[in-house]
Amino acid sequence: MRDLGDIVEPLCDWYEQAHRALPWREEQTPYRVWISEIMLQQTRVEAVKGYFARFLQAFPTVEALAQAPEQQLLKLWEGLGYYNRARNLQKAAQLVVERYGGQLPDTYEGLLELPGIGSYTAGAVASIAYGRPVPAVDGNVLRVISRITASRGDIADPKTKMKIEQALGLVIPEDKPGIFNQALMELGATICGPNGPPDCAGCPLGKLCEGHALGVAMELPIKTPKKPRKIQHRTVLVLIGDGKVAISKRPDQGLLAGLWEFPNFEGQWDQSQAVTAARALGLEPLRIQPMLAAKHIFTHVEWRMSGWRMWVEETAPVPGIFWANRTQLQKEYPLPSAFAAYLKPLLEEDIQLTFDNF
Ligand code: SF4
Repeated sequence: MRDLGDIVEPLCDWYEQAHRALPWREEQTPYRVWISEIMLQQTRVEAVKGYFARFLQAFPTVEALAQAPEQQLLKLWEGLGYYNRARNLQKAAQLVVERYGGQLPDTYEGLLELPGIGSYTAGAVASIAYGRPVPAVDGNVLRVISRITASRGDIADPKTKMKIEQALGLVIPEDKPGIFNQALMELGATICGPNGPPDCAGCPLGKLCEGHALGVAMELPIKTPKKPRKIQHRTVLVLIGDGKVAISKRPDQGLLAGLWEFPNFEGQWDQSQAVTAARALGLEPLRIQPMLAAKHIFTHVEWRMSGWRMWVEETAPVPGIFWANRTQLQKEYPLPSAFAAYLKPLLEEDIQLTFDNF
């Protein structure tokens, strides 16, 4: 891989002038950088802004995060997905309190030992918050460097990532490592993006970029496709009675571990199967409506959902089922966004939670 020393100054100069003002860039403490970097994984900047503000308000310090009730933590994470990120944040916060008195370690290696922190996040926190000259290489940076160097290395291959980290490690400026890393991320987010053609005319590296010079930037980076996701059909039951809705807790391990859900079952059920299922739970349906189909994409599986909304005679105790009122659904119980299409009408009060008024 070619020497990247020539990109440092133009890239940092461009960043100083052109970077976006983002809430987590206002005061770059280790805690704020860490939380924002974890939230930004797999999530758009615009979506993260609100979550970041609410999270920091609820848990302004490492100590507050370490002591947070899990349900409150997951509720604040609701909609961001990949809930293990939130759980790992808390585990790491507890370790930081126990071992380091509430102060995040100030070295790349120390950060890397914490749950949920990989090489990218460790590099980002170490360089941005502590001024350590270590690279922070994520998908954006892999794409930008592959284009600048016209590299055809497969970015899904860890060896390619390692080569890029090494090449950047040789040139990262000692006096502004955080600026350099953020500049690369910013270029990948705003000018040299993943979708559509890069804006080479507006790029501060236009004259230094081999991919652009050779006319191959659009073909890069090379990435071997992942295995196709498994498709799973599921039937969701929204059971309503006495102003409340039935939810149940998912197992502590596996997909959406420990979160709450509407009862749902594998397969695509017709009305009579749905009614039979409700009766099997000891509930007597009074009225039933089909709900719109929805889908949700997880990393390895895609749920294609259909569902039935059912008013039942009374909210009898059913093992494993909790009857939640509207406020509890809104404020207390974390339901993953996989169920958003079925939760939203309940929260927006489009759906009556009592049967009397029909
Ligand atoms: S010149 Fe074009 S391809 Fe090269 S880094 Fe800039 S935007 Fe990306």
